[in-house]
Amino acid sequence: MARLPVIVGNWKMNLTRSAAADLVQQLRTELDAVRDVEVGVCPVFTVIPLVAPLLAGSAIRFGAQNVAWADSGAFTGEVSGEMLRELGCSYAIVGHSERRQHFGETDERVNARAKAALRWDLTPIVCVGETLKQREADETMTVVTAQVQGCFAGWTAAEARRAIIAYEPVWAIGTGKVATPAQAQEVHAVIRALLTRLFDAGTAQSIRIQYGGSVKPDNVEELMAQPDIDGALVGGASLKAKDFVPLVKFK
Ligand code: PEP
Repeated sequence: MARLPVIVGNWKMNLTRSAAADLVQQLRTELDAVRDVEVGVCPVFTVIPLVAPLLAGSAIRFGAQNVAWADSGAFTGEVSGEMLRELGCSYAIVGHSERRQHFGETDERVNARAKAALRWDLTPIVCVGETLKQREADETMTVVTAQVQGCFAGWTAAEARRAIIAYEPVWAIGTGKVATPAQAQEVHAVIRALLTRLFDAGTAQSIRIQYGGSVKPDNVEELMAQPDIDGALVGGASLKAKDFVPLVKFK
């Protein structure tokens, strides 16, 4: 089954309003005509209302780096799916390893956040991935399997089809150490086989699985050539048009 590649920039806590506006305008000029890759950017919450009108009518989508599991109420510091939807967001990243590491996100929470995204018609980008210690202890498949099982527990196949999964080995994020295409493919294939068991073959074939971790213009092509790698979640290289544009135009 042909899956449309999806490349999303995770700006993390970077780019204030003027830098974000400059970047988005450059991306619009360079990437608006791209049709063979779905492209998105995820700025910080405060910059989303600025980016939204700049991308109006563009093929480039935008989203948030997190979403609350609840829809409203006493949840200081959180932003709901409804609030993101009204800004025009398409995506919500959930369970990024930095959220897991610094903010104590659990698979159960990630599951609830992703479900909230679906309630508001946002595509959850569900992040999973092992630490260096876990990889060295040969626990990669066990860890990633448990994360996917936990993040999708209780979901129907129809719900799962609306999600994107990002496999992001923690040791490759922001370190310049990219997984080899074979290492990434091996995990992606395990995730897809697991999705077949959790749901069904058609669902597993339709879910897009991004790789994330030091993706750059010079390594994206060989990663994307792997049969189960359907895109990239990009941190550092999404902050400058000179990197993100060639990365998206990898073919
Ligand atoms: C990320 O933040 O999801 C990421 C993969 O970062 P980087 O590309 O900088 O490794």
